[in-house]
Amino acid sequence: MDKTMDDIIREGNAYACIQCGRCTGSCPSGRECGLRTRKIIHMARVGIDVFKTEELWDCTTCFTCQERCPKEVKITDIIIELRNLAVKNSYYPSMADVPKIIIQNLYRTGNGQPLSPEVSKLRSIIGLDKEPNDIAKDKEALADFQKLLDGLPLMRWGGI
Ligand code: SF4
Ligand code: SF4
Repeated sequence: MDKTMDDIIREGNAYACIQCGRCTGSCPSGRECGLRTRKIIHMARVGIDVFKTEELWDCTTCFTCQERCPKEVKITDIIIELRNLAVKNSYYPSMADVPKIIIQNLYRTGNGQPLSPEVSKLRSIIGLDKEPNDIAKDKEALADFQKLLDGLPLMRWGGI
């Protein structure tokens, strides 16, 4: 069953947060962008639909904040769950087209990041098959995989 915001907050121990800000101060990503970890936890606790905020996608999931939180709030776990909730509700980061491209690649080849010609060449040089033995090589498996993806909101967002 899908987790609700309340499940995420409870399981992540977010109600124990004392808003000390140590998570924000520890966040390496926050030094470079607008991510304020303490604010994310605060928004989740007061019932704001924090899964809609783009800041969520600036987290690198390094777990520094979670390791340093004095109240054992499972901050990174919460962020990951909030991202899952965001995707289920068709909210994706809009700062780049990269996710769209990844979705299109995934549908077309079975890989979010298909092999580049340069890498295929390097594989040949070191004696490997040009392509790994994955779904991209197996047309039947790829067709089955596409059937699974067909109709998902994620595909619509990817323009498929
Ligand atoms: S470090 Fe923990 S207690 Fe402090 S603000 Fe962040 S989540 Fe809350
Ligand atoms: S897990 Fe995310 S929010 Fe926490 S310190 Fe690392 S980048 Fe920042």
